[in-house]
Amino acid sequence: MANALRWVMNAEVPTIAFDLVEIEVNSSVLRDKFIAHRLGLIPLMSERAMGMRFSHDCDACDGDGQCEYCSVD
Ligand SMILES: [Zn+2]
Repeated sequence: MANALRWVMNAEVPTIAFDLVEIEVNSSVLRDKFIAHRLGLIPLMSERAMGMRFSHDCDACDGDGQCEYCSVD
């Protein structure tokens, strides 16, 4: 029961996440893909998240994910 509540509460909190990562210089022992994947797992809270659209549903950029309604710079 508690786990179900946790899933529902997590699903209702609007968050954004990294979708595109560009690494210029990686001097660590970790591969670029590993770092990009781990960054994508971090949920970021934003006041703008409630007003944003999914990029695949965005009419303003035809799903490119490059406009102000579905992405953050
Ligand atoms: Zn868009």
